[in-house]
Amino acid sequence: MRYRETATKSAEILRLVIPRITQTGGNFAPPAYSVWYEHLAGLNPPLSEALEARVRDNPAAVPLPVLEDLYAEHIQGRDRDQSDRVHAALTELLRRVATTVSSSGTGVDAFAQALDQCEAELNAIEDVSGLQRVIRTVVDATVSARAANDALRQEVDAARAEVDALKEQVGALEGEVLTDPLTGLRNRRGFEKVCARTYGREPELLSQAAILVVDIDHFKQVNDSYGHLFGDRVIRACAEVLTNSVKGRDLAVRFGGEEFLVLLPQTSQAGAMAVAEQIRVAFSRVRIRRTGSTDTARPVSLSVGVAIPKRGETLEEAIERADQALYAAKKGGRNCVRFAGAEPPATAAAGAA
Ligand code: GH3
Ligand code: MG
Ligand code: MG
Repeated sequence: MRYRETATKSAEILRLVIPRITQTGGNFAPPAYSVWYEHLAGLNPPLSEALEARVRDNPAAVPLPVLEDLYAEHIQGRDRDQSDRVHAALTELLRRVATTVSSSGTGVDAFAQALDQCEAELNAIEDVSGLQRVIRTVVDATVSARAANDALRQEVDAARAEVDALKEQVGALEGEVLTDPLTGLRNRRGFEKVCARTYGREPELLSQAAILVVDIDHFKQVNDSYGHLFGDRVIRACAEVLTNSVKGRDLAVRFGGEEFLVLLPQTSQAGAMAVAEQIRVAFSRVRIRRTGSTDTARPVSLSVGVAIPKRGETLEEAIERADQALYAAKKGGRNCVRFAGAEPPATAAAGAA
């Protein structure tokens, strides 16, 4: 322990100690002096109690070995107990701080080094001032670790904001990559992505869907007669007809050039033929005005091939059959709808105009 008495006060105590040691036939060795000093200064009640009991037994003789025993038990022992308690508390503190810092995951290296050093010092400590030194080091290391934590948190926040912005950009780019710029419809890649998501997980759903392959008739002639820009407007008009003819989870896709694909989930053959016919009729009524000319453009038509995917058939195989049906529609005079693999129902078979 630390003695905090002033010089005057300790001199007063000294004046009391000397006669008491003399009276008890004693020796002025440091342990004897410490025992009498702490007793007379009233610093150590358990020691005073033990010493007074010894003096009561034999007021004329309290020899040095007795005083040394009292010193060992009540002075050294007290300091050791106090040191052990602080040591245990500090070890627990180090453990808790180390856990907190390592779980927050930052400043760990520097902090762990400081803790290792403290632990080594802790084991070598012999007095309270040593403990205070270690505590100071722990406090300093904790402050630094917290500052490092704050800096890292800011970095993480900034990185997160950057990732969010990048995600948004990637989403926009992905949208562009999957969309046809002329019509705003999904392109072939966009279609494949939707199909992979839906039918990759549940391929059996495919056999409940219907596929329409739509192709503008004699489109080369349209371009040749009225120019490519007019052709583009015809393609956009066709896309609009498709968009207006489908709903909900139906999918209209520009498959390439003047060819489109419509996917109708949960649709029967009759339903699919009806939608195809509706598309054909709606497009045949479209009149596109020519800019910079009083001439009226000839009406444009389209043909449709329809297929219902069979069980076990892949999407590509079903599209191929729809394509064959489209070929049959072209061969059958264009501006009509054909069903793949079977004779189309009489009501849905639309003849050329
Ligand atoms: P069919 O009735 O047999 O389908 O005959 P088609 O003339 O429509 O078919 P073909 O495959 O011979 O010609 C398609 C034309 O479509 C040729 C190509 O220049 C044109 N085309 C493809 N993509 C575009 C486009 O984005 N804009 C325009 N204006 N024309 C395109
Ligand atoms: Mg064509
Ligand atoms: Mg074509």
